[in-house]
Amino acid sequence: MERAVLLRSISGTTSRVCTRLFSSKVCNFTAKRHRSVLNTRRRSLLLQHLRLISTSPSSVHLNRPFCPLAPRAIATSAPQFSPDVSDAPEKLGFEKVSEEFIEECKSKAVLYKHKKTGAEVMSVSNDDENKVFGVVFRTPPKDSTGIPHILEHSVLCGSRKYPLKEPFVELLKGSLNTFLNAFTYPDRTCYPVASTNAKDFYNLVDVYLDAVFFPKCVEDFQTFQQEGWHYELNDPSEDITYKGVVFNEMKGVYSQPDNILGRSSQQAVFPDNTYGVDSGGDPLVIPKLTFDEFKEFHRKFYHPSNARIWFYGDDDPIERLRILSEYLDMFDASSAASESIIKPQKLFTKPVRIIEKYPAAEGGELKKKHMVCLNWLISDKPLDLETELALGFLDHLLLGTPASPLRKILLESSLGEAIVGGGVEDELLQPQFSIGLKGVSEEDIQKVEDLVMDTLKSLAETGFDTEAVEASMNTIEFSLRENNTGSFPRGLALMLRSMGKWIYDMDPFEPLKYQKPLMALKARIAEEGSKAVFAPLIEKFILNNPHRVTIEMQPDPEKASRDEADEKEILDKLKASMTEADLAELTRATQELRLKQETPDTPEALKSVPSLSLEDIPKKPIEIPIEIGDINGVKVLRHDLFTNDVLYSEVVFDMSSLKQELLPLVPLFCQSLMEMGTKDMDFVQLNQLIGRKTGGISVYPFTSSVRGKVDPCSHIIVRGKAMSGRTEDMFNLINRIIQDVQFTDQKRFKQFVSQSKARMENRLRGGGHGIASARMGAKLNVAGWISEQMGGVSYLEFLQSLEEKIDNNWDEISSSLEEIRKCLFSKEGCLINLTADGENLTKSEKYVAGFLDSLPKSSLATSESWNARLPLTSEAIVIPTQVNYVGKAANLYETGYEFKGSAYVISKHISNTWLWDRVRVSGGAYGGFCNFDTHSGIFSFLSYRDPNLLKTLDVYDGTGDFLRELEMDNDALTKAIIGTIGDVDSYQLPDAKGYSSLTRYLLGIKEEERQKRREEILSTRLSDFKEFAEVIDAVKDKGVVVAVASPDDVENANKERPDFFEIKKAL
Ligand SMILES: [Zn+2]
Repeated sequence: MERAVLLRSISGTTSRVCTRLFSSKVCNFTAKRHRSVLNTRRRSLLLQHLRLISTSPSSVHLNRPFCPLAPRAIATSAPQFSPDVSDAPEKLGFEKVSEEFIEECKSKAVLYKHKKTGAEVMSVSNDDENKVFGVVFRTPPKDSTGIPHILEHSVLCGSRKYPLKEPFVELLKGSLNTFLNAFTYPDRTCYPVASTNAKDFYNLVDVYLDAVFFPKCVEDFQTFQQEGWHYELNDPSEDITYKGVVFNEMKGVYSQPDNILGRSSQQAVFPDNTYGVDSGGDPLVIPKLTFDEFKEFHRKFYHPSNARIWFYGDDDPIERLRILSEYLDMFDASSAASESIIKPQKLFTKPVRIIEKYPAAEGGELKKKHMVCLNWLISDKPLDLETELALGFLDHLLLGTPASPLRKILLESSLGEAIVGGGVEDELLQPQFSIGLKGVSEEDIQKVEDLVMDTLKSLAETGFDTEAVEASMNTIEFSLRENNTGSFPRGLALMLRSMGKWIYDMDPFEPLKYQKPLMALKARIAEEGSKAVFAPLIEKFILNNPHRVTIEMQPDPEKASRDEADEKEILDKLKASMTEADLAELTRATQELRLKQETPDTPEALKSVPSLSLEDIPKKPIEIPIEIGDINGVKVLRHDLFTNDVLYSEVVFDMSSLKQELLPLVPLFCQSLMEMGTKDMDFVQLNQLIGRKTGGISVYPFTSSVRGKVDPCSHIIVRGKAMSGRTEDMFNLINRIIQDVQFTDQKRFKQFVSQSKARMENRLRGGGHGIASARMGAKLNVAGWISEQMGGVSYLEFLQSLEEKIDNNWDEISSSLEEIRKCLFSKEGCLINLTADGENLTKSEKYVAGFLDSLPKSSLATSESWNARLPLTSEAIVIPTQVNYVGKAANLYETGYEFKGSAYVISKHISNTWLWDRVRVSGGAYGGFCNFDTHSGIFSFLSYRDPNLLKTLDVYDGTGDFLRELEMDNDALTKAIIGTIGDVDSYQLPDAKGYSSLTRYLLGIKEEERQKRREEILSTRLSDFKEFAEVIDAVKDKGVVVAVASPDDVENANKERPDFFEIKKAL
């Protein structure tokens, strides 16, 4: 049921994007391509308030919004639209190009052209309160200096009307935004914002418009240095280093094998056009960029004549044009649009083969560490919508679920550990297809290539199973209807889809209208059979297509140190060539930059950013309807919400009776349930059945501390969704999954283990902050320990040892899996959570009752108590990387601190000011933030892609003093409060609301408490910050440190502070 992929052809989202900021909002949405659709949001609710970090900011992040298009689930009835007859647009300087009512999203869409400059505006009106604005420029780079990416960062660092260091951060602090970010694509740069509050929305729009058209960075060399690159020299006796936010961000990206592969593939497939270079920036090339080139790029491309602007939602369409005209009228037409045209790549006449190296761990096991990926450029020109749709469908058939033949055969071949390559990628001018494996032995590379080609050949000859085609069709239709974009605003998902054509001067309406081509495709499949539809596509675009690039990636244990030595050599040479006066000047400039970075904005400058007042904020928390009842003795929570006829359900089982040593097996147990098959159905049939009857089922563990309790809350959750008419089928399927699945397939289980291992290794390199955080949690409390057993370094170690055990001792593993099932799945300790409208909730009752009757009455197990923790030592997890992830944490409840709502405001403020300024801006890390898990009491600091190690810890330790010395006027305080409320009230679609209500129930959070916390947030005073300073000193004094870091940095740290880190090698 992995259909995050969905209709890529009409979803048109982003791959290889650099997101500027990484809200948890983006994160949640980052459904990995081959991951279950149903979001496995784990652990604390606070995570949602946290600005976390996207796991791979330079490659596929915003993978495929899940069907952004269908009838909106929030609206019960469509508003009536009359054609626009007013002459207001004309008077404001716009001419209407075309207008359509888009049935698929129940919206009126009007395309305007700004007469003076040629700027194009798409104005979409409907009753969605989550309003979206975006301005997009075509920004094709000519080299890999990363100009578009550095500009994306820099324009948000102050502008004409908002002359402060980072208006962007002020908006993060003090607005109710439901989305705020910026993305760099290989050929365009997007600036989207969203809010449900109209006043807030227009504030955001104005700040963004001013930022892109009148940024300070084009006159301010220091912003360029800070965000792009600069030489740093703190003292003439020290070495010169490179610093810069983008520079370090990209160093992190270039440390990850999957990213290196993705980039090499793109560049090799498009050697002759703009996609042949890296818009994000290659750390080797970034220092070649000059300030003049940077300014010129902005002048040329950030111009209305090269802009596409999107508005969406329930606000006044004329007001939108009025705001725009103020900005656009200030410009004259330019030739930017013709200069930014993306030239297509011509097709090759014969295939190409490329070998690349990637940094691997020294002394690690290198034999099975090769990667191979086959890539095709599908066409030399854009495809028509029907062909794209068919290709998207084909992609889902080939790779969309574990049962999809190409994916299945590759994984079952035992030639490699995990799939690489994203299948069909269609968000650039020309679509591509790529597929391969990682964790391959050098001698097996040819076998992987042959297997890919042979499988595609045989699929072209024999076609797909009818069941598979039906399952894919249902999956696609379901998700279109459900239109579940997660926490990503629907209007933004639509914008990105429309932009996929519009940016290339094609029809922006077309990608929004999927119904007709989908019906046509369905009819063709019914009439001619699926083979007649798909076989020619496989033959033409893949098998007989000479534009094929095979990339082989070889592990190179010396690469990381070689790269570092090369960089040092350049910098040493530079230093040797400098006179004493030069060095003194560089030291001065370094200090000047730091001083500027560390000097706060003046209160006047801060006041320039518009903000709401506390009166604009609702006094009550958002209420989610809940009715707690009982079916056959089992608790049932019901949430009466309009869901467009979809029933969302969670079946929750208690995990607390599981034996401690079985915990690390739980993730594999969950995967086995979904992917091993029952007595009478193999897993392919089971998956097809799930695809045909439901919108997806997933199983995963949920663990959290509960405030005021010793024992953690730990459950297994089975999540499912289906059209209400399919409720019975869904519960039958859930029943079969948890009761009938056979844990007998040793070979498949071995694949799960190697896939999980590959995934964990990837996480270590790309998401080391998460690994560090889990590790600290495991040292500080039981819930953290459990999570780490199932997803941290301990889990990786478990997987490594398990791999051998499968061959020698499979029976024991198999019976352990059976034991887990017997412990978990029973009526006793079960809880059901349902979200749908009242009528469908009532209708579902008898199926729920039937399901519950079929469960065993009580489980085998007796209550277990887990009290394991990892030792409280400071640890460095050493991996081959050029950047670090540094964490420090302590449990504040153990100091006697009692939780107050103000802690939300304070920790957000620490993240957005102190840590942002010191860890990111002057430290040069891509991110630095803190998190307060209010359930466990653990307060943690974390950094992301950080060039520093001990220095970052010093910043963390300075937090108490920062709070003690903090000065804050009322405006700043109000902003901090409003920003916090924005997080607490984050926008949720109905399924997410039902799920939040469930987790609150599980964690014992009552409505009265939510009201109390809200009041505490709203009444936060400066004195709360000062009091918190004393509390947070506990992290400095007693905190535990975990860093995921490079061997050199750890060695140096241990030289500076002997025996500070206990070293653990993880890769
Ligand atoms: Zn970036």
